[in-house]
Amino acid sequence: MEFKELGKSDAKIPVLGVGTWGIGGFSSRHSGGDDDDARALRLGFDLEMRFVDTAEVYARGHSEEVVAKAVKSQRESVFIATKVSPENLHYADVIRSCQSSLKRLETSFIDLYQVHWPNTSIPIAETMKAMEHLVAEGRIRHIGVSNFSVQQTREAQEALSKSTLDSNQVEYSLVDRSIEDGLLPYADKEHITVIAYSPIARGQISKGGRGERWQVLDKIASRYGKTRTQVALNWLIAKKPVVAIPKAASLNHVRENAGAAGWQMSLEDQEALDRAFK
Ligand code: NAP
Repeated sequence: MEFKELGKSDAKIPVLGVGTWGIGGFSSRHSGGDDDDARALRLGFDLEMRFVDTAEVYARGHSEEVVAKAVKSQRESVFIATKVSPENLHYADVIRSCQSSLKRLETSFIDLYQVHWPNTSIPIAETMKAMEHLVAEGRIRHIGVSNFSVQQTREAQEALSKSTLDSNQVEYSLVDRSIEDGLLPYADKEHITVIAYSPIARGQISKGGRGERWQVLDKIASRYGKTRTQVALNWLIAKKPVVAIPKAASLNHVRENAGAAGWQMSLEDQEALDRAFK
């Protein structure tokens, strides 16, 4: 597994992590419940995707509890990211939410604490003040945001006085390229890690579709002996500021996703995909 620096910090995170939306809830038809979900996460860790993304809102907090079950004695070697919900962005609410997440995650610190969505009715400066307090207390190590525009990201950065804003988690995949016009170049310039969510378009990439773009993808996949999903993830992590967090409850999906790292597509093939899916 390759690693990338997290924002301007000295932390390094794997280029592929595991997502948890649905984990601990209805997860998927493959899942027989919490034990199966925890097993899928653990397999991801064993395959070196030692970075897990969750949120206080996922399965009403139960997703964080399943993450705790999966991480157990491996705490120091798994990078845990979670998120505070937009309705909890007042100072005291951020502190309370973090405390609850720490309890559910059964840990004394969160590696990356992210604002899940912006809330324009709560000043970002108030939220970031609480985040910096949590850093000072050692309860979180890094600060991130999610679903923030360029302008909102800039405001969040400016609201921090002692810490850096290290990441923005946004939707990004071969079929959703909307960040490429603004946020991606901004993040690159500012050394903010882009954590790509729904990186395989919620499983749609594996299904393919009609049209020339899918032929381009299939041709490249067969050239490298990889699947569509592996090529789509590899294309994402080849971009400098980007890491990706595919979610998989199926063990076979986990194995397949882990195989998206550890090899490199030629620049020519990356550009062919850029053009085909633009
Ligand atoms: P995703 O990772 O693009 O896709 C997940 C879906 O694809 C699941 O149904 C999974 O099935 C299936 N899948 C996984 N690997 C596969 C493979 N190799 N071949 C075929 N199908 C495969 O979508 P996502 O869950 O929306 O996004 C990933 C993570 O990003 C989330 O879990 C969450 O942690 C985060 N996220 C964040 C936000 C935000 O607002 N910040 C929003 C959405 C998501 P099985 O589970 O059955 O294996």
